[in-house]
Amino acid sequence: MRTSQLYLSTLKEAPSEAELVSHKLMLRAGLIKRLGSGLYTWMPLGMRVLRKVEAVVRDEMNRAGAQELLMPTIQPAELWQETGRWELFGPQMLKIKDRHQRDFCFGPTHEEVVTDIARLELRSYKQLPVNFYQVQVKFRDEIRPRFGVMRAREFVMKDAYSFDATFEGLQASYDKMYRAYSNVFARLGLKFRAVAADTGAIGGSGSHEFHVLADAGEDLLAYCPDSDYAANVELAEALAPTAPRAQPAEAMRDVETPRQTTCEQVAELMGIPLQRTVKLIAVIDAGGKLVIVLLRGDHSLNEVKLSKVAGIGEFRFASEEEIRAAFNCPPGFLGPVGAPDGTRVIADRTVAAMSDFVCGANKPKYHIAGVNWGRDLAEPETVADVRNVVEGDPSPDGKGTLSLCRGIEVGHVFQLRTKYSEAMSATFTDVDGAQKPFEMGCYGIGVSRIVGAAIEQNFDERGIVFPQALAPFALALVAVGYHRSDAVREAADKLYAELGAAGVDVLLDDRNERPGSMFADMELIGIPHRLTIGDKGLAEGVVEYAVRASGAVSKVPLADVVRHCQDVLAG
Ligand code: ATP
Ligand code: MG
Repeated sequence: MRTSQLYLSTLKEAPSEAELVSHKLMLRAGLIKRLGSGLYTWMPLGMRVLRKVEAVVRDEMNRAGAQELLMPTIQPAELWQETGRWELFGPQMLKIKDRHQRDFCFGPTHEEVVTDIARLELRSYKQLPVNFYQVQVKFRDEIRPRFGVMRAREFVMKDAYSFDATFEGLQASYDKMYRAYSNVFARLGLKFRAVAADTGAIGGSGSHEFHVLADAGEDLLAYCPDSDYAANVELAEALAPTAPRAQPAEAMRDVETPRQTTCEQVAELMGIPLQRTVKLIAVIDAGGKLVIVLLRGDHSLNEVKLSKVAGIGEFRFASEEEIRAAFNCPPGFLGPVGAPDGTRVIADRTVAAMSDFVCGANKPKYHIAGVNWGRDLAEPETVADVRNVVEGDPSPDGKGTLSLCRGIEVGHVFQLRTKYSEAMSATFTDVDGAQKPFEMGCYGIGVSRIVGAAIEQNFDERGIVFPQALAPFALALVAVGYHRSDAVREAADKLYAELGAAGVDVLLDDRNERPGSMFADMELIGIPHRLTIGDKGLAEGVVEYAVRASGAVSKVPLADVVRHCQDVLAG
C-alpha cells in the first residue's frame, strides 16, 4: 500500500483524556478514534492491526480443531432467565426492548446462546467433542471504562465453547485450548504468563488466565521464580506461618493515639514495625450480619478469599454509621478486644499466629498494645487465609518464595462443567442410552485488548514498536524526494513492486513531506523495519535499512534489498 492511498491521521500530542501510554499512542497513531465512553472506531490503520491479531487467533483455533460460527449479538432474555443470569449478570448487561416490548440484551458473552445451539443440534455422544468459536463484538457496560480499548464497553472477543461427553474429555479439550492460547501469544511476540485463576461459583481447579506482563496491568500476579507456580493474587494462597505463636511477653496497656487512625500512623508514633500491628475491617456478610476481619497491619484484604469463607458469601464493607452503631466508636480505633458481643471474628492466618500485638481499643483516640490471644481475648472463631500474598511469602508449592508482577488479562480458559447444560437441560444420549448434560468449557481472548496490551509492552519515546506479527505493515519504504526526483520515484516504484511480488507487507511512503516527518510517522505507527531510498544512496547503489526496535541502521546494495527484506522478515 501507498501512504497516498492510506488514511493516516497521526497527532503530535495525545488528547488529554488518555492516561496510559498505549491509549495515548493508539490515539496519536490514529489507530482508533473515540466515539463515546468506552466506544471506539477502529480506523483503517488500526483495523489492519486488529485483523492481524484475529488471523493468528483464527489460525490457532482452527488448528486446535475448533470450528468458527457467528452468533447474534442481540440475545433474547428468555435464554438468560433459564440460567438465572438475566438478574445475576447485573448492570454490566445492556438490556434492550424490541418494537413488541420484548426483552433482549446486547450479548456480554455467549454461554446461553451456544448452549441453546448444543441442545438443539448435538444429540449423541457420537457427535462429541465439539468446539465452536466466533470472533465477535461484545458489549459490557463497565463501571469504569478506561485505558482506551483495554477496558472498553464495546470490544472484540474471540469466544470458544467446548462440548464433551465426559469430564476427561473436557480436560482434553481444555488442554488443547490452553496450548492454542500459548501459541497465539507466543506467535504475537508477547511476553505473557498463564496463571491459575479464581473459578468463582463453579469451583474446582479448571481455570487459567493469560496475562501480558506490563507494569500498567490492572491485575497483580504471584509467581515463583524457582518453580512453575503462578496464580492471580486473587487466588494465590498465603500459607500459615510455620513458627508457633510466641508466648506473651508484655502486659496489655492503653496507648494514647490522639490523631493516629491507621496502623502506619500508630506504628510510627510507637516506633515499632508495622508488622506488630493488627487492623480490623468490619464487613456485612451475605446474611446481613456484621463480621470482624483481622489482618496484620501491613497486609491487605483479599476480597475473593473472604467471600469464599464458609458463611460469608457476597459481603460488603460496613458503613461508618453501621460501625458507630455496633462499636460505639468511630472507625480508626477499632479492635477485637471488647468488640460487640456475638460478632463473628475471622482472623487471618498470620494474625492468629501473632502475640503482643497492637490494635484499636474500641474507644476514641486510643489503641492497645501487648495484646495476646487466649489471654486478653478469646481465640478467634475462624482462622482463614483472607489476605493478599506479598513479595517474599513462601510459594504454596513449597519450592521457594513468591515474586509479584503486574499483568493485563488477554485470555481466559475455564472449565464450566455442567453449570449451563444442566440449567438449560442441554443433554445428549450417551453410549449407555442415558441422557447426560454436556461437560462444557469456555475460552475467551480479548482480541481488541491485545492491541493495547501489546503496545503497553512495546513502545519507546518515538512511538509504538509493534512486534512484527501484529504490525500494520511489516516494512516501511520511505522515498525521500519522490515528488522532485525521477530517479527516486522510478527506483521506489520498482522496489515497491518487487517487494510486493515477493510477498512483503510493505507501505510505500510516497507523500510530499519532509523526510523528518515521514520518519516520525513510520516510527510512531510502529512499523518494525524501514528502508529509505533517496538520491544520495541511489548514486552509491544502496538503500538504507533501519530496525525500529534497536534503531540500528545499515546500507544494503539495491540489488540485494528484496532478499535482505525477506531474510529479516522471516526472523
Ligand atoms: P476483566 O477481569 O478484565 O474484566 P473478564 O474476566 O470479565 O475480564 P472474560 O469474561 O474472561 O473477562 O472475557 C474474556 C476476555 O475478554 C478477557 O480475558 C479480556 O481479555 C477480554 N475483555 C473482558 N472485558 C473487556 C473489556 N471491557 N474491554 C476489552 N476487553 C475485555
Ligand atoms: Mg476473566
